[in-house]
Amino acid sequence: MSPDLERLVRLQNLETAIEDSRRRIAAHPQRVEDADARLARAKDVVDGAKQRLKESQESRREREKEATAYQTRLSKFKDQLSAVKTNREYQAMQVEIETAQKGLGAVEEKVLERMMESDALTAEIKKAEQALVALQKEVDAEKKALAEERAAAEVALTQATEQRGAVIAALEPQLVALFENVARARKGVALCSATRDGLCSACHVRLRPQAFQEVRRNDQIIQCFSCNRILYYIPPPPPVEPAVTHAS
Ligand SMILES: [Zn+2]
Repeated sequence: MSPDLERLVRLQNLETAIEDSRRRIAAHPQRVEDADARLARAKDVVDGAKQRLKESQESRREREKEATAYQTRLSKFKDQLSAVKTNREYQAMQVEIETAQKGLGAVEEKVLERMMESDALTAEIKKAEQALVALQKEVDAEKKALAEERAAAEVALTQATEQRGAVIAALEPQLVALFENVARARKGVALCSATRDGLCSACHVRLRPQAFQEVRRNDQIIQCFSCNRILYYIPPPPPVEPAVTHAS
């Protein structure tokens, strides 16, 4: 490959590496934010379950107060029962007692329901808290990895930028200008290979036989007639000795 073409290929690789590093650096804050958001959601699950437990316990205390009120009324009725004079008064009192007992039974059932709900919620909180602890560890590790990745991207960006400067300094200014013009028009990709069957690997147009012949020599600057990218050729690897197979 001609030194110019080699430098252009190198320049393209560096441009791609620079772009990739920049993208990774730019994506870093959002990825940290996403990790924090996952953690916040797990905290919300714990807080939500705790809030429901608190409400359930408050509701249970209310029902217990009601039960106490029914019990007070019942013992009052039972005291009064011994003091009634007539059969009618006695029957009326019995109805009152029955009603209060039914009320008490219903309230006690609700207390029981709340107790069961409390148990379920307590188990739910425990599970959510365990999940939160696990996620916290996971997110800490993820943020550490993200920070390392960002630092690595910054180092790669600095190195590639320096190397690009050296490559550009070694190239003819008009070649640099050509590269930059094509790169600007083609989303940063000014160079691409020709496939072995003579297509531009970027825009897939078939190259004219004469142009493909020249591209294969890798000794001059040839642009794709369709997309304008500078073409180079990667020769096929030398044939590999076929593995010996034994018929079985
Ligand atoms: Zn092309």
